[in-house]
Amino acid sequence: MYDPLHDKSPGCGEKYPNSYWANTSGVAPENDGKLAQDIDVDVAIIGAGYTGMSCALHLAREHNIKAHVLEANQTSWGCSGRNAGFILKSSGRKSFSTMQKQWGEEVMRGIYQEMSAGVETVNQLIHEGIDCDPQSLGYIKVAHKANKLNELIELAKLQKKMFGYDVEILSKDELSQQYMDDKNAYGAIRYQDGFGLNPLKLAWGYQKLAREAGAKIYCSSPVIDWHKNGQVQQLITPQGIVKAKKVVIATNGYTPKNFNVLVSDRTLPVLSQIIVTEPLTEAQMAACNFLTSNVVMDTRALKYYYRKLPDNRILFGGRGAITGKGAEDPYYAKRLLSVLKSSFPALHSLNIAYAWSGWICMALDDLPHIFQNDTKDVFYSMGYCGAGVSFSVQAGKRLADKVAEKSVPHLPLYDRPLPKFPLAPLRRVGQWGYFHYGKIKDTWF
Ligand SMILES: Cc1cc2nc3c(=O)[nH]c(=O)nc-3n(C[C@H](O)[C@H](O)[C@H](O)COP(=O)(O)OP(=O)(O)OC[C@H]3O[C@@H](n4cnc5c(N)ncnc54)[C@H](O)[C@@H]3O)c2cc1C
Repeated sequence: MYDPLHDKSPGCGEKYPNSYWANTSGVAPENDGKLAQDIDVDVAIIGAGYTGMSCALHLAREHNIKAHVLEANQTSWGCSGRNAGFILKSSGRKSFSTMQKQWGEEVMRGIYQEMSAGVETVNQLIHEGIDCDPQSLGYIKVAHKANKLNELIELAKLQKKMFGYDVEILSKDELSQQYMDDKNAYGAIRYQDGFGLNPLKLAWGYQKLAREAGAKIYCSSPVIDWHKNGQVQQLITPQGIVKAKKVVIATNGYTPKNFNVLVSDRTLPVLSQIIVTEPLTEAQMAACNFLTSNVVMDTRALKYYYRKLPDNRILFGGRGAITGKGAEDPYYAKRLLSVLKSSFPALHSLNIAYAWSGWICMALDDLPHIFQNDTKDVFYSMGYCGAGVSFSVQAGKRLADKVAEKSVPHLPLYDRPLPKFPLAPLRRVGQWGYFHYGKIKDTWF
């Protein structure tokens, strides 16, 4: 598998991974094909995931700028077409209480507003007619140990106080009787407003809206080289050169090695693995009391997440291999299946129907950053740390504001670059160490 820390290109025209989404979402809508000649443009966007397409959509609708999006493979071939489809009011990994301590009440609230606006924008765009199978509202955060339930209850109280957030507390019995009988759960808290959807259909919906607004989306058009000639950025693709006044890097965890100095050594791509099972029978669902289609995540440092899909399959996710070379080793999918079965022993005979993985994009400070170079002709947004389905849309909108020279809120999200990783060549060693620390923490503390 393509490994962003080793490879200089994610490929050209690669097919979607053999995921549940790619196999069940129907036919991809039309795009603008492969770039086949040289073009001069005001704005070029590299990467047709949620970030790139949201930026293109908002540039067209709000600033009358018709951007040209260059995608190496297919629309949303990266994370956006292969994620778990959890829509949550959060991004990055930094908690709101840490933000409050570090930056104060006003900044913390500003960031919360931006993350909430991401969910609102996703909902508005879905209401414009994107058919992406949204499921029932609710996000359940499960305590994987008894002491973690106390921490969750404290979190629920804090969020109620800080944001008036209506967070329900569920004992182990309430959870198993009303939602699902997860044997690894010691209780949970439940937010009323998260939900699951089909992420690939969402991406295809954005593509349609962006093209209707005037943006062009070229697939099979990787940027394989990049120079600046005077005031003009020159992006080299296999069959055409794009001369652009401004460039947006929207490649997130799929950013190739040494792609651009502005983002080099500032992210850590980490594999997240998903399995989707065969559909559960009525008897299997009854044995697990699997009543809910809410999205579920646990309190582990190395998190597991799951949801019941509209056709009664279970999507189950967690960490994957460390390198691209190991990504397709069936060990990682089997490990997820065994954790799923430890939560629901009645599913002992259940099989995996689909398994795939993708590169999430970690930032050193656990926060996404939307930033630009000093000459304000190269912009980027990345570092969602595995939580970008909703916020990437807000980030794309803010990128569009920046490209159009409009102001954005003064927040660490928008005012600061991604910090550089110290000892960047050793990032994977650090990741390996963190995985070991996480295993010990999750087992013993
Ligand atoms: C397994 C998995 C599960 C996840 N689950 C969730 C979830 O449930 N909820 C949530 O909020 N977040 C989740 N995420 C994270 C979320 O999917 C991402 O944060 C989000 O999709 C990022 O979108 P993006 O547009 O920034 O990047 P991407 O969607 O990764 O798009 C980047 C694109 O850039 C292209 N590209 C790279 N280099 C070049 C080049 N040189 N030239 C042209 N194109 C190039 C790539 O081909 C790719 O299509 C998950 C991620 C993974 C991997």
